[in-house]
Amino acid sequence: MGREKMDPNFSNEKILEVIRDYSNDTIYFKDSNSRFVWNNRAHAAQFGVSDPREMKGKTDADYFPKDFAARARREELEIMDTRTPLISNIEKLEKPDGSIIWYSASKYPIIDNADNVIGTWGISRNITALKIVEEELSRTNEKLKRLSQVDDLTGLFNRRYFYEMIEKTASQYDRRNNRRKDDPDDTFSLISLDIDFFKKINDDYGHNKGDDVLRLVAGILTSSCRKSDMVFRIGGDEFMMLLPDTPLKGAKVQAERVRSALSGAPIVLDDNAAPVRLTASMGISCYRDCSDVAELIHTADDRLYTSKNLGRDRVT
Ligand code: GH3
Ligand code: MG
Repeated sequence: MGREKMDPNFSNEKILEVIRDYSNDTIYFKDSNSRFVWNNRAHAAQFGVSDPREMKGKTDADYFPKDFAARARREELEIMDTRTPLISNIEKLEKPDGSIIWYSASKYPIIDNADNVIGTWGISRNITALKIVEEELSRTNEKLKRLSQVDDLTGLFNRRYFYEMIEKTASQYDRRNNRRKDDPDDTFSLISLDIDFFKKINDDYGHNKGDDVLRLVAGILTSSCRKSDMVFRIGGDEFMMLLPDTPLKGAKVQAERVRSALSGAPIVLDDNAAPVRLTASMGISCYRDCSDVAELIHTADDRLYTSKNLGRDRVT
């Protein structure tokens, strides 16, 4: 290989000096026993060592916590054994004072001219600031996700999440299709509910009291169902209850339970007036009896309107 003429301003010594003294990334070279042969100032500075030459012959175990050093040693043995570098490995360092530092570390085998592996070298970047932003972002995403599933007024799940969950539930049961054929109870049901004469509450007591009633109904629906059931506010005074592992007759029992919980809890909306006895009309449907989710929802809604037409305060 022809030697190119070196720019005297950029001698090997100068380049090495720049890397040693001015790189913010930590750089080290180790022999096959993982003892430091050479490291730069940034590497030494993280241990409070001002002259990197002091670290020559030492190992990670002299500076890092025991488990961190042991893991690094295992990685280096593997890198030397396989002659394969480890690129952009994310490392977490818990300092004795409890603080945490995150690194992105790359480590490579060093192979001499006779093709023997003689050690490793590595370069690490402190990515703690990036990690903190990433964690904040992921917390924010979680929060946004929750918000996108929840109805502001009642805290119940909202309409969007209803469609997501009913599709998800249906496909879970579809996957268990064979069992569904054998076991008539291995299905899920839906209750569609609409408060009776809710407009009158708004008209008589005002919209704010109407909102209180919606929140109250939400609480009654939630407390009258099982942990695995899900309650949604679809809009206005319309609610849906999704009942996993429940055949139609179980849904009927559940709907009747909701009906008596509602009528058993008259609401005081005005201290000077008699408590208001709230009722609701419901329609139930079962996935086993329907060909798809759309039919399941339509059936529950149709039956809800049958309940309305038959005089309200009932389950169809
Ligand atoms: P029905 O027995 O036929 O259901 O009669 P209804 O008076 O309950 O009539 P309907 O269910 O069609 O109307 C629901 C009303 O709920 C319409 C609207 O004024 C009211 N509403 C919708 N959203 C809200 C809300 O967020 N807060 C309050 N306070 N009222 C709402
Ligand atoms: Mg209504």
